Amino acid sequence: MEISTGLHIYDTLTRKNLEILGSDGSQVRIYCCGPTVYRDAHIGNLRTFLLVDLVIRTLRFKNIATLTVQNITDVGHMSEDFEEDKILQEALRTNRDPFAIAREFEEKFHHDLALLNISKSDIYPRASESIDLMHQHMKKLEDLGLIYQGADGNVYFSSEKFPSYGHLSGNKLQDLKPGHRYEFQEDGAKNFHADWALWKPAGARKDMVWDSSWGVGFPGWHIECSAMSLHFLEGHIDLHIGGIDLRFPHHENERAQSNPVIDDGGEAVSAWLHGEHLLFEGRKMSKSAGNVILLKDVIEAGFDPLALRFCFLENRYRSQMDLSWASIKAADKVLRRWRDKYSERQDLDQGPSEFSLQFIEDCHRDFMEDLDTPRALLKLRALEKDLTISDLDKRSIFQGLEPLFGLDFQREVSATVELFSSYELDLIELRKKARAEKDFQESDRLRELLNQAGIEVRDLPTGQEWSRKK
Ligand code: AMP
Ligand code: ZN
Repeated sequence: MEISTGLHIYDTLTRKNLEILGSDGSQVRIYCCGPTVYRDAHIGNLRTFLLVDLVIRTLRFKNIATLTVQNITDVGHMSEDFEEDKILQEALRTNRDPFAIAREFEEKFHHDLALLNISKSDIYPRASESIDLMHQHMKKLEDLGLIYQGADGNVYFSSEKFPSYGHLSGNKLQDLKPGHRYEFQEDGAKNFHADWALWKPAGARKDMVWDSSWGVGFPGWHIECSAMSLHFLEGHIDLHIGGIDLRFPHHENERAQSNPVIDDGGEAVSAWLHGEHLLFEGRKMSKSAGNVILLKDVIEAGFDPLALRFCFLENRYRSQMDLSWASIKAADKVLRRWRDKYSERQDLDQGPSEFSLQFIEDCHRDFMEDLDTPRALLKLRALEKDLTISDLDKRSIFQGLEPLFGLDFQREVSATVELFSSYELDLIELRKKARAEKDFQESDRLRELLNQAGIEVRDLPTGQEWSRKK
């Protein structure tokens, strides 16, 4: 029996608010498209990654279990000019090993998530370690006659054989003009212009290639999400999350690859949640415009990273959001003021008053209504101003809501956030590798370098832990 959750999310496919269900009767299975790890995630990416956390917190607040998977794209995502894999391109540019680049930015991604209090997913499968899964998935599609190998060696999906192709994004197959730059540039070898490659021949490429029954090559981007989501979430995805730009072609293609292989012949994904994009000071963030902002920039400007989380919560995820330094500054100020007033922990033995419990419940209901976080924050602002409510009630409300908002309301105002430079993170990463390879001489040398940089490392059974020396 599926479990109902009371959480409603606007579903891109049906264009309706749907209740999210735990279809296996015990938990809600969630998949979120993860980062392509060739560069730092910018704060726009982080806005999208926060969505998983908001869903997890909303459900856990009512003790509903979740199983969350977020992939790490370390192969297969082609650059905008469709010439080269993004990670290999970066490897070429910097003369580094592509996997070293991927691991460095994967580690930084986890570091950014932790700074924003984003709950950890249960599984972070890497594309490069899931090639067999992709082959197994492709084999099923091959048996169903849905893929074919073109004369150019690419293995394509026959988009015309998936009748509801385009339903997610509103695109019609016939309208997708040949040459439209939404996929790799293979021409001539496809049966139909909208077909896309699941496997590409290695050609002259030497790195990041694998053997397969379709020849030596590498995967396309879309197949990884179909293969990983269905494998790790055991055949069904209750909620699929990603940024709006992924709706087409990434998710459209994923849906076409996933639906045909599931047992009941229905939808592999029950609800598609898409987050709108973040702009910075009125413009799309881009390297050429010079306005790509990282979390590190926010911290270096003297702001608490959770001020950024606060800004995200103040805006509805389905609206395009325009962030500015002024809004981060304002959020930082409110957050500090609230901690100053309400950080003192309440004696839980007493229990919150009836009023406080109702207030907390009302805020949670806003989250349940398609993550209406701005509405919940407005309630908190009004609470602060309301002189008829006791400070005791206010404190217990802030304390009770912390698991939902994740803004560290109970943190001491004076506490500082630790930020590590990329040099320091590199050393930490290298030491992790040295330890895994049992190269203790190298691991000691790196410990010493970290020590000189003012970072203390402790080796625990679960791995190394580090902090800046006081
Ligand atoms: P990428 O690492 O480029 O694959 O992107 C990771 C995630 O960030 C995807 O879900 C994108 O849709 C999302 N994304 C990219 N740019 C923005 C932006 N400006 N605002 C919000 N999300 C974004
Ligand atoms: Zn994906």
